[in-house]
Amino acid sequence: MNNIAILCSGGDVSGMNPALKHFVEYSIENNLTPYFVFDGYEGLIDNQITKATYKDISGIIARGGTKIGSARSSRFMEKKFRSLAKQNLDKLEIKKLIVLGGDGSFRGLDIFYKEHGISFCGIPSTIDNDINMTEYCLGVDTALNIIKNAIDSIRDTASSFKRAFVIETMGRKCGYLAQISHITSGSELCLIPEIKHDLKNYEDKFRKELENGRRYFIAIVAEGINEDSSEIAQWFQKSIGIEARVTILGHTQRGGNPSVYDRLMAYKFINYAIDALVEGKEESIVCYSQGGFVYKSIEEVVSHKKILELLI
Ligand code: ADP
Repeated sequence: MNNIAILCSGGDVSGMNPALKHFVEYSIENNLTPYFVFDGYEGLIDNQITKATYKDISGIIARGGTKIGSARSSRFMEKKFRSLAKQNLDKLEIKKLIVLGGDGSFRGLDIFYKEHGISFCGIPSTIDNDINMTEYCLGVDTALNIIKNAIDSIRDTASSFKRAFVIETMGRKCGYLAQISHITSGSELCLIPEIKHDLKNYEDKFRKELENGRRYFIAIVAEGINEDSSEIAQWFQKSIGIEARVTILGHTQRGGNPSVYDRLMAYKFINYAIDALVEGKEESIVCYSQGGFVYKSIEEVVSHKKILELLI
């Protein structure tokens, strides 16, 4: 019996569905029987594990989110529930597991492997792009495109009304989405947790620009900075002298039709993950580095915080 299962854990991202589609196809190509685990580690514990067929993946490539659900599971932190999860996998003779998730999910997986020896391969999936050892995490490109479209729309209304717009992006403590969006959308201000800022330093410049006829400002602000976005908007009003509005993009950044790049990366991540398990690698994470894919150990991935490459 050569059974393989996949689950999504932690925050969902656009790109998971293309990954699920290719998981089924590439497993079958490799004479493996694919299984879906529903709702992350919760589904492992509750035995929500079913054989996956071509029928299950019909049409999902164009959809955001994940067809099999994702979840956080506090029960999986407890040994007795991990034992239950192992019993459920044993019943179905599943010995290989792929997890789409972030570093928290990988940490859980590592403990599970050490206790029960289920071979696994992790695929970094988070729009925050904050996982150590990989330059790319599934879902990031779609999120960046959603942010780009939002900024382009906001720019139209901002210039019509002579306003400053403060646009807040996700990323927890990582400023990746904000930084890349700032560069690719040509915004006037970008605030990220990795760079200390003093708003006073922008005041003369922005006031002068306003005097010289500038009609709007776009500020991209990462959610992880110390101030609330509303405080940045108040600063625009009080210190620069322009009406200001806040747009918090929030969960819109996670959904939407997966971009071409995320579909392609999903395909490649799955190829590497299944190849690793077929070749007998017992515990690895597929990482993308310097234009290619490499396997890293959990230790390498979770032991250090990712350091953002600063481009601004
Ligand atoms: P992410 O994978 O996006 O970083 P979380 O940090 O929320 O998300 O982790 C997702 C899930 O991984 C948790 O809800 C839990 O089930 C599991 N997990 C995380 N850390 C551990 C751990 N130390 N032991 C067991 N399970 C864990």
